[in-house]
Amino acid sequence: MKSLLSFIRTVIRFSILTALAVLQNHVVSAQQLDCGTGPAPASHLSYLESLVPFYPAQTEDTNWIHLPVTAHAVRSSSGFGGMTETAIYATICNLNERFASGRISFYLSERVRFINNTAYYGATSYGPLGTMIDQENIARTINIYYTDLSGMGLCGFAYYPLSGPGGFQNDGAIVMSFGCSQPTGTTLAHEMGHYLSLPHTFNQTSSNPLDPNDAERVTRNFNEIAPRLSANCFTAGDRFCDTPSDFIAGRWSCPSSRTTLDLNNDAMKPDSSFYMSYSYDNCMSRFSEQQMTAMRATVNSTNAPRGYLTLNPYPNFPAITTYPAKFFPQITDTVVPNNALFRWAPINGASLYQIKIFQFNVNVFDTLVEDTFYHALGNRLRGMRQYSWIVRGINGGNLCTPFSPRDSFSTSTYVFAGINDALSAKKPLVYPTALGTGDLLTLEGLQAGSPIVLTLRDPLGRAVWTLQEFNEDEGRLLAFPGDLPFGHYLLTCSQSGRGFTYRLFLKP
Ligand SMILES: [Zn+2]
Repeated sequence: MKSLLSFIRTVIRFSILTALAVLQNHVVSAQQLDCGTGPAPASHLSYLESLVPFYPAQTEDTNWIHLPVTAHAVRSSSGFGGMTETAIYATICNLNERFASGRISFYLSERVRFINNTAYYGATSYGPLGTMIDQENIARTINIYYTDLSGMGLCGFAYYPLSGPGGFQNDGAIVMSFGCSQPTGTTLAHEMGHYLSLPHTFNQTSSNPLDPNDAERVTRNFNEIAPRLSANCFTAGDRFCDTPSDFIAGRWSCPSSRTTLDLNNDAMKPDSSFYMSYSYDNCMSRFSEQQMTAMRATVNSTNAPRGYLTLNPYPNFPAITTYPAKFFPQITDTVVPNNALFRWAPINGASLYQIKIFQFNVNVFDTLVEDTFYHALGNRLRGMRQYSWIVRGINGGNLCTPFSPRDSFSTSTYVFAGINDALSAKKPLVYPTALGTGDLLTLEGLQAGSPIVLTLRDPLGRAVWTLQEFNEDEGRLLAFPGDLPFGHYLLTCSQSGRGFTYRLFLKP
């Protein structure tokens, strides 16, 4: 009887402990996941030690450094999931704000590249991601991949200079989990720190704060009197003397009262404000001066480890300090919800315009266009509603530009041109239906993220032109071969098991 009772107690205790462990794990994974970047290798630590003589001069170097970024949005093989282009732009904007004090800026050398591959999107180990970096990296740029790392329990990881897959002038990358890529998150700044040479502030110290050689001591006095040991901050730990010794290698909330003692019996008090610590996002706000100097040195000359990032000339993006003037709709205007044209004035230097539509304070639509209008078709907007909208101009070097003031507008009921349109409100729209040589055909209302097959047939039913591709956007421009004889044609568009036919006329 007694042993049964004891057995039951043991089971209950075990269950409670298990429940606690599960709860704790859950809390940790929901709030803050780890970074997957390992300790800096010995060769890299030697490199950091070689930079120490340069630290005093850093304030004299006032030049801005502009670094090119290639952003990759990774999605499932069928094109679902992942981050949108505008959400990725928001992370780069935020990154620029966090590096501005060090006069480092990041620009996009092209628009976001989309990679549809489930092996990369749902990776559970580093292997497939290494293959991805090998195959998709664009040389002489910082390659940032936004994917889903939840299967690895990671927020992100990066490679130190001269390590990782990729090869000559193309080594390594930053891989971000989209769950940790909120516009205000700090993971990207942290991973960029690794990419540009910074170890964690607890490097070589968290494993054993009493290690006489590798652990970073608290003192900053290089001439301590025995038996006290002198400072070793330039040759141990993270190799920076303006970040205090740190022993916490798991995510921690601030302020923290946790301390431990070093060999001198001095209490270690890690600083939660450093991006390269493991404190929570809301605690972090800065790199130290020596950290910034090390990152600048890592790109600042042609023989520096990542000097290749500055080989391509900076495109000198024009500054954008204003927002576009809106033409339509303005306050009190009413638009037809399934045929609403948004128009604004061009502004100097903008290569793209971002338009956002809100219902109440909820952003229901956010996209990029290259022209100064956006045509909302289909059921993008609902009838008899109140909306508001904003627009701004951006370019690859200016992603934090101001939006126009928010103007509200109303929608009327839907207006249909004919009974067929009403019956198939989701039928893609094709215009113009009469095309001269060189005219582009616009397809609107496609399903983003699914394969599409287009076939153009002549009056005898012969296919004279076909296109099969993975369709990424809701709209598309088509160019037909210039040598097709003029006359009537039928264009069939198949997507997601549905087919539509359109009559086209090619003008002489
Ligand atoms: Zn890290």
